[in-house]
Amino acid sequence: MAIQASIALHAGAAALWLARPHWWPWLLGAIVADHLVLTAAGLWPRSKLLGPNWTALPEAVAAKGAVAITIDDGPDPVITPQVLDVLDQHCAKATFFCIGELVEQHSLLAREIVSRGHSIENHTQRHLHSFSVLGPGGIRAEIARAQETIEAVTGQRPQFFRAPAGLRSPFLEPVLARLGLRLASWTRRGFDTVNPDAGVVFTKLTRGLRGGDILLLHDGHAARTASGAPVILEVLPRLLQAVAAARIDAASAPYWSADLFAYCRARGKLLLDPAFMEILKEGLLVGSERILDLGCGQGLLAAWLLAARSRNDARPRNWPSDWSEAPRPISIRGIDLRSRDVERARLAWGHKADFEQGDITEAEFGTADAIVILDVLHYLDFESQRGVLTRAYSALEPGGVLLIRVADAGAGIRFALGKYVDQTVMLTRYHRAPRTYCRSMAEWGQILGDGGFSCEAMPMSSGTPFANWLFIARPRKQARSLRPQTDLPFSQ
Ligand SMILES: [Zn+2]
Repeated sequence: MAIQASIALHAGAAALWLARPHWWPWLLGAIVADHLVLTAAGLWPRSKLLGPNWTALPEAVAAKGAVAITIDDGPDPVITPQVLDVLDQHCAKATFFCIGELVEQHSLLAREIVSRGHSIENHTQRHLHSFSVLGPGGIRAEIARAQETIEAVTGQRPQFFRAPAGLRSPFLEPVLARLGLRLASWTRRGFDTVNPDAGVVFTKLTRGLRGGDILLLHDGHAARTASGAPVILEVLPRLLQAVAAARIDAASAPYWSADLFAYCRARGKLLLDPAFMEILKEGLLVGSERILDLGCGQGLLAAWLLAARSRNDARPRNWPSDWSEAPRPISIRGIDLRSRDVERARLAWGHKADFEQGDITEAEFGTADAIVILDVLHYLDFESQRGVLTRAYSALEPGGVLLIRVADAGAGIRFALGKYVDQTVMLTRYHRAPRTYCRSMAEWGQILGDGGFSCEAMPMSSGTPFANWLFIARPRKQARSLRPQTDLPFSQ
């Protein structure tokens, strides 16, 4: 519509100039200003002033938590095949905005992209840096030739167009309309053609990640990390994991019915908490039918496990190939001291799991195949910690598992930092910072051993500066053996 307004402005200025020739400085000024606005709009890839422009997926798709991965400037004979393998490993599909000339040169590879379920879209024939300053004829030739090339090689006609570097001119939209193409830009990009730091690129792409996002990466013109690897190959596996977690975020949607604060917190936690990821990846709860979550908060673990199961069972299966299969609990029971959190958990997940308000130093544990205690024990005094572990031991079936996450008080500054963050969160949320009772790793291992557990510990701080560990503790007790034959009442 900016284009129509601009045409109207030009026509109006011409008419006025005929009627009032001495107004020419004002009329010229208006036209120059108009051109400046249109140029600025073209330099801003995500602007919609020059015509329709997809900067996010349509609402219906976004609501399902889908995120689009778009990969530009290929195909590249070395990098693209590796990108395809990473995508396969994560059961992910991507959209490749390819350069026509390269599709021609690497036609087998282009066909492979399509045959592996991805789509190839139009990124011009030559990826000219001068694309945005070409006239209407030049723009049309660049786009139409790429359409023909891609269709001839892959058998599929592109539906979307993306301009080189996202730069456009006012002539573009009419050309796209005539070719039946839709302009796609992106929600976020990581500048992975110039930034060699995979961590920074990853953070840029995932900051505020949500359903409907269109993310931009490059398999062509890829920057190299310090070790010489193309940035995309370092970023993509992590990104696909984060996207998977964000899709599981569809899991936290019911928190809307609790309240917005809880929803946002659930999102952040699901995305960031490495323990949730590891529990699934390593299959730590596989085979556990009755799961007891002590200090369950708003029921995030239950949400996570339920979402995992539905993804695992989806047809086609929507599950990372290198992860253990999803746990299939028959019951999940959560206990938490704070009634507000329990209320939220019930609102969100009450139909699928049980949540009770209670003090875990007294509450009845019943029997369970797995007990999970994440970031809770240090709020109990040392004596109560032992009490909870003893009762957990009694509640667990032989072959059961206790998962506890604790911080290592022997870790110096990293521990102090974690404690500071923890206390700050408690102060903000509950307006008080309760006293904490911390132990070093050796001490945690000691009281678990005293409680009858044999245990191993996994570091659980990836991506954070803290000193968190997950103990995987199994009760050292035998399954009650079958009643010996001689005890059977024999009839003589
Ligand atoms: Zn490009």
